[in-house]
Amino acid sequence: MRPAVCIFWFRRDLRLEDNAGLYHALNSGNPVLPLFIFDRNILDLLENKTDRRVEFIYETLITLHKQLNEWGSTLEVRYGRPDGVFHQLLAEYTITGVYTNTDYEPYATERDGEIKKLLAAGDIPFYSYKDQVIFEKNEVQKDDGSPYTIFTPYSRKWKALVNDLSLSSWPIKKYCNRFLPHPGGPIPSLASMGFKKAGEPFPSAVIRTDLLKKYAQQRDYPGIHGTSHLGVHLRFGTVSIRALARKASEASDTFLNELIWREFYQMILWQFPQVGKGKAFKPAYDHIQLRNNENEFEKWCAGQTGYPLVDAGMRELNATGFMHNRVRMVVASFLAKHLLIDWRWGEAWFAEKLLDFDLAANNGGWQWAAGSGCDAAPYFRVFNPTLQARKFDPDLRYIHHWVPEWAEHSYPRPIVEHEMARKRALEVYAKAVKER
Ligand code: FAD
Repeated sequence: MRPAVCIFWFRRDLRLEDNAGLYHALNSGNPVLPLFIFDRNILDLLENKTDRRVEFIYETLITLHKQLNEWGSTLEVRYGRPDGVFHQLLAEYTITGVYTNTDYEPYATERDGEIKKLLAAGDIPFYSYKDQVIFEKNEVQKDDGSPYTIFTPYSRKWKALVNDLSLSSWPIKKYCNRFLPHPGGPIPSLASMGFKKAGEPFPSAVIRTDLLKKYAQQRDYPGIHGTSHLGVHLRFGTVSIRALARKASEASDTFLNELIWREFYQMILWQFPQVGKGKAFKPAYDHIQLRNNENEFEKWCAGQTGYPLVDAGMRELNATGFMHNRVRMVVASFLAKHLLIDWRWGEAWFAEKLLDFDLAANNGGWQWAAGSGCDAAPYFRVFNPTLQARKFDPDLRYIHHWVPEWAEHSYPRPIVEHEMARKRALEVYAKAVKER
């Protein structure tokens, strides 16, 4: 006889604590089969076979598996396309319901819609819970019901709405005997899926109160470890946003604001899905006379522009999958304005390289820097990469580390002269914006 189970399907919520969908699954009255799918629809698109995000997921699954073993269960890990995997599971189990946490990205919404339809054919409910944000979709909106497009009033409303309940945890451990006791199969190896380990360490998931307390003073300096590096953990849910927001509320309002930026951009993507499909939030910006010089783009990607702060950032990204926020702003502005290259090219490069890649935040950050976004820097603000370096890397610690040859003859001359590029950008941007 096929065992009756409910399934909890892990996606961007890879933790066994404070997990909304898992809590509801454990309280559904049926044993819970915890499931993860290595989704071929995503993996097949990754050209880099040492993609560290796949390795991060893999290592996290091993940790989850061990914890579940201690609780008398195992993690069911499958490799395939979600619809195919669910067809297999329907043949193996009597499924009473499938529990998930909502993933708001366009691919995920479409995938979940298809699985929901597939299950509905057998009268099996598909449940989806808010877990990766404090406020989702239209929970923070203007009094007239329209969405905010400016961050500051959005954040004010966010703070007015948040309370102990919205930050409270979903307990898991006390229900740990409700997982299905089953032998499970082995976790497919990275090699069997065509991937390799890079073997570099990942940022720690520990939320450091001492760092949060100094965050406001230190966060703008790429030469010091002044930001949390928790992006990858928020991306894959190895840290709970509620636990983090509770700590932020106690330790640092500036840090809390950054978490609110994250939700702001998720809200923008949900309310204005066209931004995730290559469109500028402000349509006039889709008519800028771009140069799109491929040779210059390659130099930007490789960290060979002759501007040490830009090059340091790009080299840090290429080597580690991380780039400091201040430097992300500078390199993005440099690409969009100094070089007049389509910001979508830069967005795609970041999407391939960033460990913490997140469609909403990446798109929001790029559109902010290019001036085309909802609450963007005005187009006439063009970062001067030399002054930015002087201000935010005054002792050159960051530049020395990533561009040790910056003062030598071998280091390239700037690919574009700042003042000329600034004026050129202002003219081209003004033309596009005024003509519309
Ligand atoms: P901290 O400063 O410690 O902040 C804590 C968390 O708050 C971050 O991990 C992140 O989840 C969130 N956060 C902080 N700043 C922002 C912000 N401006 N917008 C949205 N969320 C924020 N962030 C991503 O998570 N994924 C991306 O793909 C991404 N792409 C970006 C692209 C550009 C061009 C720019 C300018 C910014 C981008 N950001 C992105 C935002 C920000 O740079 C990173 O979140 C941050 O640098 C990650 O480092 P951290 O974890 O140490 O952040």
